[in-house]
Amino acid sequence: MVRFMKHKTYNIITLGCQMNKSDSERIAGYLENLGYKLNNDRYSSDLVVVNTCGVRQSAEDRIYGIIPRIKKKNPKAKIVLTGCLSNREDVKKRLKEKVDIWLPTVQIPNLKYQITNKFQIPNNKSQSCGYLKIKSKYSSMISAFVPIGNGCNNFCSYCVVPMARGGEVYRPAKDIVQEVENLVKIGYKEINLIAQNVNSYKSQITNNKFQTNSKLQITNSKQINFSGLLQMINSISGNFWIRFSTSHPKDMSDELIKIITNCKKVCRHIHLPAQSGDNEILKKMNRNYTAGHYKKLIKKIRRAMPDTSITTDAIVGFPGETREQFNNTAELFKEMKFDMAYVSKYSPRPGTAAENLDDNVSREEKKKREENLMRILRKTAWENNKQYIGEIVEVLIEGEKNNFYFGKIKTGKSVRIMNYELGIRNLVGKFVKVKIIKSRDFGLEGEIA
Ligand code: SAH
Ligand code: SF4
Repeated sequence: MVRFMKHKTYNIITLGCQMNKSDSERIAGYLENLGYKLNNDRYSSDLVVVNTCGVRQSAEDRIYGIIPRIKKKNPKAKIVLTGCLSNREDVKKRLKEKVDIWLPTVQIPNLKYQITNKFQIPNNKSQSCGYLKIKSKYSSMISAFVPIGNGCNNFCSYCVVPMARGGEVYRPAKDIVQEVENLVKIGYKEINLIAQNVNSYKSQITNNKFQTNSKLQITNSKQINFSGLLQMINSISGNFWIRFSTSHPKDMSDELIKIITNCKKVCRHIHLPAQSGDNEILKKMNRNYTAGHYKKLIKKIRRAMPDTSITTDAIVGFPGETREQFNNTAELFKEMKFDMAYVSKYSPRPGTAAENLDDNVSREEKKKREENLMRILRKTAWENNKQYIGEIVEVLIEGEKNNFYFGKIKTGKSVRIMNYELGIRNLVGKFVKVKIIKSRDFGLEGEIA
């Protein structure tokens, strides 16, 4: 690509999910290819990209503070708004004086035209994941996000993602495998495969044999599902871990559970958003499963892999959620003994089916319900974590701070490594055996074994 913008600087502000973080890494790679240099100060950068999240009102509200502040303190900066809110007409109206370029995520490859010519690209929601071909500037040297697709077809009634990102499109298995092979070759130790619903993955290539280092080869006209993709990535040689999210309870198959069990590089951590433990609410949410199905699924996973940690998402105060219905979610939390959960207070989102329902649970009541779930979670997570005491576990060291190392184990738990001998060689980016000596609700402490 032509380098035509020497010495200009950029800054990226990322709000929201892993997918947004990964998209920002791609935007950074793209801009550096154009000759831009990273500037950590948004108030002196030539170009500021705000990668927005519209999943909750609270995430949306943040940009109404951030963007006008940048425009005021750094009026010469070109402000690019991308991500979930880039297609929202009401947001465009509200920020039209402050934002220079509106960039739907799939249009990232066209950003150079907009920077140079103020040439307006047609604002159609392209169903493409071509932008995923852009090479990321990974923000970590150890752990990388590798998107396997984009968009969602599920239309959960509260969720804006299918409107904001469009329908599901998946990346060819060949591209994914090659990206992972390259990452492993240069020393990456953790690969995070991400998509809104990984379980619906289908490879888009149906012919052309391709050669990879993976022991498994894709042959003619064989469609690959997520289980097949995991097997391919698992068979890439090298010492690394594989994580994936997000799974949907309606789509997690027995085949997938079996494959995860057999793939030794796949981490023992399943993130499975329940959203609610009440059948009527689940139906109103258009989740297409019951609480009973969810519980059975977790039991199946735990039977196949007893050492797996299970994390979830839940929404409290969905329109019409009664105390009894909420109590079913609280029961689910007690019974499933989650290791971690992201609990959100429901907020109506424009364009969703639930937008038309009466948001009749008060803010205070939502807060109470959220605190209630967090109390249960802290207890179950702490009880789960106690079982690690005395065990020797493998830790991927992610960094060093104030005289301790920190990292993660295969189940996704954070570990702090205390009292290691000063002068010990740099362990960042290495797998190290650690004896767990202390546990907290959301973390463990250990010593090098
Ligand atoms: N694809 C994932 C998550 C997508 S959004 C899934 O299927 O679960 C991330 C989380 O945000 C959701 O799991 C949900 O718990 C929360 N969320 C989405 N829309 C919301 C809304 N309108 N109000 C509150 N929380 C919401
Ligand atoms: Fe949103 Fe549901 Fe799709 Fe997840 S599965 S992104 S919650 S619509």
